[in-house]
Amino acid sequence: MTNRQNLIATTAICLALAGVGCSSDEPDASGATESAASQAQAATTAVEEAADAVEEAVADAADAAEEAVGDAMKSAEEAVEEVAGAVAPAAAEGECSLSIEVGDTISYSVRELSVPSSCGQVTVTLTHTGKLPKAAMGHNWVLTTTDNVEAVGLGGMNAGIDNNYVSQDDSNVIAATSLVGGGESTSVTFDLSKLDPAGSYSYVCTFPGHWAVMRGTFTITS
Ligand code: ZN
Repeated sequence: MTNRQNLIATTAICLALAGVGCSSDEPDASGATESAASQAQAATTAVEEAADAVEEAVADAADAAEEAVGDAMKSAEEAVEEVAGAVAPAAAEGECSLSIEVGDTISYSVRELSVPSSCGQVTVTLTHTGKLPKAAMGHNWVLTTTDNVEAVGLGGMNAGIDNNYVSQDDSNVIAATSLVGGGESTSVTFDLSKLDPAGSYSYVCTFPGHWAVMRGTFTITS
C-alpha cells in the first residue's frame, strides 16, 4: 500500500468505527504525519517528473538543434554546388571562342578545332595575315558535315565572290564567315545545339579550288 492508500484506509476504518474506537488524538496525529509523508512523496514524484520533463526537453532541443545544423550544412553545401555549377559553364565560355588564321597560301593555321559540348554558342574568328587581296587569295571558314565538304566546296564556287563563295540556299552549310583578303578579319557565331555531338564535321574554304586541300576537322568534346 502507498501512504496515500494507507491514509484513506485508516480514515475509512475510523469512519466505520465512529464512536467505537478511533481516539480523537492518535489518529489525527498519525493522519497528519502520513499526510506530510504523502505530500513529501508527491513532491518527490513531482520533482522527478519535472526532471524527466527537463531531460526530455533538453533531448528534444538537442535533436532540433542537430537537425537545424544538418539543414544549414546541407543548404551551405547546395549553395557551394550551385556556385560551382555557375562557375563551370563560365570557365568553358573561353573555349567556345575559336581563332584561326590564314595567309597567302592555301592553308589554315590549324587543321583541327574542337569545342566542349557545354558551349551554347560558338564563335569562330578568321584572320587573314597575308597581303593578297581577297579576289586573288581570299579565304573563308565554312562548317559542314565531313560527307558534304566537296558538295559545299563546289556549290561555293558557283555562288560567286559576291556571295563570299558560299551557296545561299545550301542546307549543308551550318555556318560560314564572309570572305577575307590580306589584313582582314571576320567572325561567325552559331548555335552548337544544331550539331550532333557524335557527328563528323569539317570546315572548309570555299574560295574556288581551295576546298580540295584547305580544310580541317571540327570536333565536339564532352
Ligand atoms: Zn582559301
